[in-house]
Amino acid sequence: MLYIGRHVSISGGIDTAFDKAKSIGCTAMQIFATNPRGWKLSPIDAGSVAQFRAKASKTGIRTVVHMPYLPNIASSKKDIYEKSVESLTQNLDRCSMLGASYLVAHMGSHMGDGKEKGLGNIAAAIGRAVDASDSDTPILIENEAGHANSLGEQLADMASVAGMVGSRRLGFCLDTCHLFAAGYDIRSHDALDRMFSEIDIGMVHALHLNDAKMELGSHRDRHANIGFGYIGLEGFRSFLSYDGVQSKTILLETPISDEISEADEIAAVRLLCDPVRNK
Ligand SMILES: [Zn+2]
Ligand SMILES: [Zn+2]
Repeated sequence: MLYIGRHVSISGGIDTAFDKAKSIGCTAMQIFATNPRGWKLSPIDAGSVAQFRAKASKTGIRTVVHMPYLPNIASSKKDIYEKSVESLTQNLDRCSMLGASYLVAHMGSHMGDGKEKGLGNIAAAIGRAVDASDSDTPILIENEAGHANSLGEQLADMASVAGMVGSRRLGFCLDTCHLFAAGYDIRSHDALDRMFSEIDIGMVHALHLNDAKMELGSHRDRHANIGFGYIGLEGFRSFLSYDGVQSKTILLETPISDEISEADEIAAVRLLCDPVRNK
């Protein structure tokens, strides 16, 4: 069973995400649990939770929740930091309510206070959220393209946060566009060998599968449709044939475009995963 899908909208009710995901051939989906531009999670009633869980078991679609945009768990500013820990905790609680498999969180920005401080803040925030929540959903920190002060461009930094947290509840989500922008050439198995000496591939549970509009090492986060960017179809075919990659939960966050429909793009990724074609 391959878990492949994309980020889908919850507008129209959180459970409607399953209808959308199913109609385009997803076996996994990513959602925001709330308005991604707000701090607070809007309340959810028992009926909506029941409906969500019913559709989850009926469709068999795996759910991944992505944190909203505002929280910054690397920040040294007390008010922002406290609100961010609170948000992480609330999203963890929401994940267990919904039966989500993972919570994806960005590492955030140290805002000029330095990398070491930022990484320490992230580890402490994760520790606090895990302690404060009854949820057992793993938190996956995501790598970044490497814009100013943002953390997670270097995979070794993600490994160092994992070392500080020391919890089995922490894992990684790798975004292929961000990797490529950060200079990791995921088209080559040699480069992947080096990459997975920086972080343990066994701790990578999800992949954001996005092609890159900008070239290798651009440090610019611009997603392209699969096969329409610099990674390209052959690049993805090679990446997806790397040992262990296909067992991850694979989620597209590509633009909605006239070039390719969402259903066709997911079907294309399934074909790229086909072991016979990868020979
Ligand atoms: Zn993300
Ligand atoms: Zn991105």
